[in-house]
Amino acid sequence: MQQEHYDLLIRHATIVDGTNTPRFAADIGIRDDRIARIGKLAGARGDVEIDLAGRIAAPGFIDAHTHDDRAMLSDPDMAPKVSQGVTTVIGGNCGVSLAPMPRPIPDPVTPPLNLLDDDGGWFRFKTFKSYLDALREKPAATNCAMLVGHTTLRVATMDDLGKPATPLQITRMRELVEEALEAGAIGVSTGLFYEPAIAAPTEEVIEACQPLKKHGGIYCTHMRNEGDQVMDSLEETFRIGREVGVPVVISHHKVVGANNHGRSEETLAFIKQNMGRQSVCLDCYPYTAGSTILSVDRAQGSARTIVSWSKTLPQYAGQDLADIAKQMGVSEEEAIGRLLPAGAIYFRMDEKDVQRILKFDETMIGSDGLPHDAAPHPRLWGTFPRVLGHYGRLLGLFPLETAVYKMTGLTAQNFGLKDRGVIREGAYADLTLFDADQVDEAASYDHPIAPSRGIETVIVNGVVVWNLGRSTGAHPGRVLTRAKQAA
Ligand code: ZN
Repeated sequence: MQQEHYDLLIRHATIVDGTNTPRFAADIGIRDDRIARIGKLAGARGDVEIDLAGRIAAPGFIDAHTHDDRAMLSDPDMAPKVSQGVTTVIGGNCGVSLAPMPRPIPDPVTPPLNLLDDDGGWFRFKTFKSYLDALREKPAATNCAMLVGHTTLRVATMDDLGKPATPLQITRMRELVEEALEAGAIGVSTGLFYEPAIAAPTEEVIEACQPLKKHGGIYCTHMRNEGDQVMDSLEETFRIGREVGVPVVISHHKVVGANNHGRSEETLAFIKQNMGRQSVCLDCYPYTAGSTILSVDRAQGSARTIVSWSKTLPQYAGQDLADIAKQMGVSEEEAIGRLLPAGAIYFRMDEKDVQRILKFDETMIGSDGLPHDAAPHPRLWGTFPRVLGHYGRLLGLFPLETAVYKMTGLTAQNFGLKDRGVIREGAYADLTLFDADQVDEAASYDHPIAPSRGIETVIVNGVVVWNLGRSTGAHPGRVLTRAKQAA
């Protein structure tokens, strides 16, 4: 009898399979890009063999919320992500997508689109298809599934962003949404919180999103308000989902501002209640600070503000705004004026809210990392290991199986990523091999760029992309599309 043979054979694994069920011991045999066998494979051989005794094999993590649209092209090793065990990213969030941009992007680039590229040269894809084709021709280390951003569509079709779109402009946006979905976008994102979309009424979003239902797309939103009006914003989100007839994803759910601390009890109860009548998903990052573009009003509500990048004065990246103002001998407001365009990290959340939201059964993990910041929020490099280590192992917020589920099986199900996010025979061989006793973030606010601890080997479509602390240089990532959901 011929000996069983695999391309890659992982022996003595403890498998946490992404379904929130108890771990079990087995070997994993991989052929080509799929998991071929799970079981006792003592007599088998592999071209490459890994002895995983004492460590965990989990499905590769899916980052439910990223701004990696450009990073996949400009930094295809995707080290901030694969070093955490992430094998798939959901991009194009918060209304901000790199494509389509059928006309020249304004100079300077309209914030927050400058989070992706403050020079504008990367906003070169006139159609969504040409962008996805570029990702297919020169793949990244990770897979991706992409959203088309409503703010990008506004910038592409409107000259005065301070107004609601006209019927003609909405028609144009809808055509661009249609083109994006046909090309393989999984849905539409909005960033109604941000200046270029604040003037968009709910009806504009509902109208622009009409093609979603036919294509089985999804609606993701950085809501209009995550502070005093958070309940109104939830209601607006649910209404858009109902009227368009599609699932909604509440991005990076949080409650900000000291007067709102504790209100996650209220928001989560409301979310739970609406889950009974329509499809509602949510994601969260495991930190009490957020990060986005620098502005006076955001800094005013923040207990501490760290500048993450500045185009005009890059030497201040990584420093506290208060210290910068002191060095300049000016008010914080004046310092902000000198630093712009710039990004910042804002401490505006309460730890109890973060934990309550993380722990909520339906919450997925998304980093919201900003890969082009000079001094990024540590969530870019640390999110997933922090959930497993700090919140899982150290604080005991949830068992390992649940933590993994929130970053794999649940996410694949919500985004319709077929044969991803689970370890089972026939699924794609996206795997993260890690030491559950060691895993944790190494990145911090002071030293934000650092690969995590305990993530040993990361495999995408059967190919090792990260091993023992470094990228392998392999780029086997694919553009994933949303599987049609059973009605
Ligand atoms: Zn956002």
